[in-house]
Amino acid sequence: MKKFFALAFGVSALLANADESLSLKIYSGAPDTIRTASTTIVAVTEPGAEASIGGESVHVYRTGSFGAKVDLRPGLNQVDVRVSSGARKAGKVLNIFYDTIPAPKREAKPAAAEARFIEPRYIETLPGAYLQYGNGQDRLGGSKMGFIDGGIVLKALGEKGSLYCVALGHNRLAYLPKEYSRTAVAPGDGESVNTGSWSVKDEGRTDRVSVSLPRRLAYHYATELEPSTITVDIFGATDNSNWITQRTLTLGAIEYVDFRQVDSDVYRVILRLKPGMQWGFHVGYEGTNLVIDVRHRPQSLALKNLTIGLDAGHGGQYPGAISPSGLVEKEVNLDIVNHVKAMLEAKGARVVMTRDGDTGPSMSERKRIWREGGVDLAVSVHNNSGGGALSSPGTAVLYKHLFCRPLAEAVTARLLETGLPLFGIVQNFNFSLNGLTEFPEVLVEGMFMSSLQEEEKLADPAFRRLVAQKIVAGIEDYLKAAGK
Ligand SMILES: [Zn+2]
Repeated sequence: MKKFFALAFGVSALLANADESLSLKIYSGAPDTIRTASTTIVAVTEPGAEASIGGESVHVYRTGSFGAKVDLRPGLNQVDVRVSSGARKAGKVLNIFYDTIPAPKREAKPAAAEARFIEPRYIETLPGAYLQYGNGQDRLGGSKMGFIDGGIVLKALGEKGSLYCVALGHNRLAYLPKEYSRTAVAPGDGESVNTGSWSVKDEGRTDRVSVSLPRRLAYHYATELEPSTITVDIFGATDNSNWITQRTLTLGAIEYVDFRQVDSDVYRVILRLKPGMQWGFHVGYEGTNLVIDVRHRPQSLALKNLTIGLDAGHGGQYPGAISPSGLVEKEVNLDIVNHVKAMLEAKGARVVMTRDGDTGPSMSERKRIWREGGVDLAVSVHNNSGGGALSSPGTAVLYKHLFCRPLAEAVTARLLETGLPLFGIVQNFNFSLNGLTEFPEVLVEGMFMSSLQEEEKLADPAFRRLVAQKIVAGIEDYLKAAGK
């Protein structure tokens, strides 16, 4: 081993050993300057090699990844990272400067204020529009109230960035992305209109509830589990529905319908469902009739009679997360999904995949493939990243709408049998694909690719197969419980 001589600080954070016969890549944790008293260094070498960080030997995972948390002294720290495998060796000295002087406070950029228009503007929604509760933003956009149909005229009171602030009623604001709107004229019939007749009927695979309105109004849907209910709030409507007519003697999913005038201009359609019959729905307009199609629970819940939608996250030019040793999320997602597909097909199910190769369809394309494929239930598979490399945050199952919770619980319970800890069952997840209402759907974040322990599991083809088995078992548990 040659001796290292530290260069003047700041020129280079890394000093490479001349002996490079063994691979050694520093993945993270070696910034030039740091303002915390410790740093977690993650590096990758050949699987089977031995490694030390700062003189302490550390575990090398079967991926070749290794890491340690290193305490720092104020000033320059030289952290020796060494690996060896038989006679082959490599090493790097990391020069990390621990600066104890607090970082100069950066002026927080003031968030763009919401501006109110002097005169309200009228806008009309375009296909694909959705409402947000507030003007918040996160990685996936502000929390969505739900998608709404095109052709709905709304009063915009103001704007913030890419959002209009719209009045849903005298007491209720929401936000609409400007890209899903165009200018419109004020409706001539005032702020609030009367509802007309309802028609309720069994149409074979769905129950259809149609509420006649004089024009298209904004709405918000929600589901409840106990008792099993779908509610649709219509904004700017006052009850004048003197004919709520059920046109077939029996209904497939709906026990009965009702309404409440919950505010002077908010009209709530209540669909009480038969126990265990909540299987998705669709809300939209036909002309100016608000139509709610409530899907019947499939006649048979045997996998051989069902169509299952599968989605491998990312793909094509979107790799997703990349682990320290170089696992690519889009590839491991597809591998797990391919196992799920084979297992489901072996049980006789029909499977509709959003992608079966290295392509990256858009979210709306993925939704279209599932809808047009007539899927009865769907699962999207991703793997997570973020958080500490040295911990094992675990597995997560995410969903948006409450009626998807039983599926999320069933899949989570099975995934925990792999030995992965529970990161969480995540509700109200804002991912566009989870916004679907037409069938039960969940998103599995199998494990954290950024965790060295979980990366090792994910790199193991047998473990990926096990994850797939557990997803299938979770689907089967859900179907069994739903059939009771
Ligand atoms: Zn992902």
